[in-house]
Amino acid sequence: MPSNDLVNTAENYLHALCTEIANRCVGSVGNQQATDLFTEKMIQFGFRTVRSEFDCIDWSSGEPSLSVNGESYEAFVSPYSLGCEVKSPLSMASTIDELKKLAGSDRVLLLRGDIAREQLMPKNFTFYNPEEHQQIIALLESKKPSAIISATSRNPELAGGIYPFPLIEDGDFDIPSVYMTEKIGDKLSQQLGKLVNLRFEAQRVPSTGCNVIARKGSDPNGRIVIFSHIDAKMGTPGALDNASGVVVLLLLAELLQANQPAITIEIVALNGEDYYSAPGEMRYLADNPNQLQDVYLGINLDGAGYVDGDTAYSLYDCPLEIAEKIRDSFPARQGFIEGEQWYQSDHSLFLMHNRPALAITSEKFDYLSTFITHTEKDSPELADPEKLVDAAHALQKLLFTLDQVWVNSR
Ligand SMILES: [Zn+2]
Repeated sequence: MPSNDLVNTAENYLHALCTEIANRCVGSVGNQQATDLFTEKMIQFGFRTVRSEFDCIDWSSGEPSLSVNGESYEAFVSPYSLGCEVKSPLSMASTIDELKKLAGSDRVLLLRGDIAREQLMPKNFTFYNPEEHQQIIALLESKKPSAIISATSRNPELAGGIYPFPLIEDGDFDIPSVYMTEKIGDKLSQQLGKLVNLRFEAQRVPSTGCNVIARKGSDPNGRIVIFSHIDAKMGTPGALDNASGVVVLLLLAELLQANQPAITIEIVALNGEDYYSAPGEMRYLADNPNQLQDVYLGINLDGAGYVDGDTAYSLYDCPLEIAEKIRDSFPARQGFIEGEQWYQSDHSLFLMHNRPALAITSEKFDYLSTFITHTEKDSPELADPEKLVDAAHALQKLLFTLDQVWVNSR
């Protein structure tokens, strides 16, 4: 049983990050409040703390109005879309070939079926961007429809539990767009060639955000880095995604208060995992021109602490000596389980630079990403503060042991 004090602290942090702060989306006031809170705590716990800023946009929109011949259709504004007021005939494409054959720019274009089955990666998202997505975006930009309507179903891998999901979520793409369910899309598709009225307001406001980087120890040759992304998707309290990870970092920093490790310990609130252009991740890589070659172990927490099931850890390219220490520090009897590898979070930064990594999430990861992640359901009741305290203790033990291994290997 973890101490009551720390459990209370964990609960208070969750409340502060998910309830007192209304929204942690990159660029928002809430996001800045969250990074302020993190900075203040890291300084209080004796870490050398720097903030690394980047430009981003804060976005807001009104409700869309969409009708054909006086009949209304329910739709949602795509995040980061520009606003519009258009009256144009409806055209349609469900494959890349159909999109290629479309003529005329003064159209409202309905995308449905195959072409709309997965969320299109943003234009400037460089970490993962399939050729097919780039081709669709390039075709849309050359066809220049006056607006785009996408009809979508579910896409847990790229869009989380949100249904319908926005096909386009990209502040660098300038054709206004809305999205709707497949069912309403079917209905709308009957209106091919008819005049569509589509109107909504939206604003992209220039803003800033930052990563918060907190360090102890000063060995230039060895560093253990621990990430949690502090931002949340727009429209979700983001308790498991990823206030819970941030809470573990805050608890861990408190536990390390009196320690002076030999190896450098770097605790990072990354800011942008759930934002279309991953600005914090880009900033972090730019701040690390050595390609992370001094990283002895990279750790990432995302989706940890779900009330149901164990806390799952997974290893990536860990040398035997590190793997052994990880397994010792996360024992089954304390509610840890070694789970499958997964790649949809910030530990990918370590993997792309061939550094050993450890990712920590919940055993019910699949359920969460299909039904909870990125929805309004991701609220603090779903996070178990005791599990977060247990994870912080396990990490403290791991850091202590790895520090010894590091010292002995010098
Ligand atoms: Zn996340």
